[in-house]
Amino acid sequence: MRPAFVAGNWKMHTSMAEATKLARAIAARARGSSNVIAAVCPPFPYLAAVRSELEGSTVLLGAQDVYCEKNGAFTGEVSAAMLVDVGCTYCIVGHNERRHIIGESDALVRRKVRAVLAAGLTPIVCVGELASERDGEETVGVVTAQLSSAIAGLPADDAARLVFAYEPVWAIGTGRNATPDQAEEVHAHIRKFLADRYNASLADRAVIQYGGSVKASNAESLLRQPNVDGALVGGASLDATEFLAILETATRAAS
Ligand code: PEP
Repeated sequence: MRPAFVAGNWKMHTSMAEATKLARAIAARARGSSNVIAAVCPPFPYLAAVRSELEGSTVLLGAQDVYCEKNGAFTGEVSAAMLVDVGCTYCIVGHNERRHIIGESDALVRRKVRAVLAAGLTPIVCVGELASERDGEETVGVVTAQLSSAIAGLPADDAARLVFAYEPVWAIGTGRNATPDQAEEVHAHIRKFLADRYNASLADRAVIQYGGSVKASNAESLLRQPNVDGALVGGASLDATEFLAILETATRAAS
């Protein structure tokens, strides 16, 4: 049985006071469950403070991005080792906002996946198509190309440590979800892709989150899909009650 995994991506939101308050509220009320994992991914400057708030709770810490080099003259960048040092367990890699706003290439995403794995963190590898690509029936091709590049040359032992997030770009921050059927279709494709590239048992154990305007009110039908293993939550993760309700839904769906 795969665990469900719900992660909050706080993006470039919150102040120090808001981040610590939000983390405290989530940490205090998140119920531990053997089949559900919860994590929050605050902005870099608040990682240490949020880690302190999460101490003693079941909620883990993640980062929203990383650089692919170990150290050196890379002004403004943060290494995977630094993320480990500050207490992260997870790191989002290849989020659509980094691919499409910042201009990250598939090749850079691949290097970041490698760096994160080498440091002992778990990458949350994001893939997803633009609205125009869905309209052009290119979804499977786009997702396959992003996945192929992200895992190119990766041995099975490393691939088994990846978490995936299917995030249709047209559903992120738009209030417009993929339907449960649309999500399930792509999630099933990702699992089949992993089975073909590696093996059935690795594919069966892979955690594949859905992301795109998930809220407490729409989480249930998405999380009940057989190949949807939790959610990567943006906007709704900035509200402790909403985030905790999604976590509760994931706990019910996984049991
Ligand atoms: C995200 O940032 O990964 C995301 C899914 O955002 P939202 O939930 O706001 O669509």
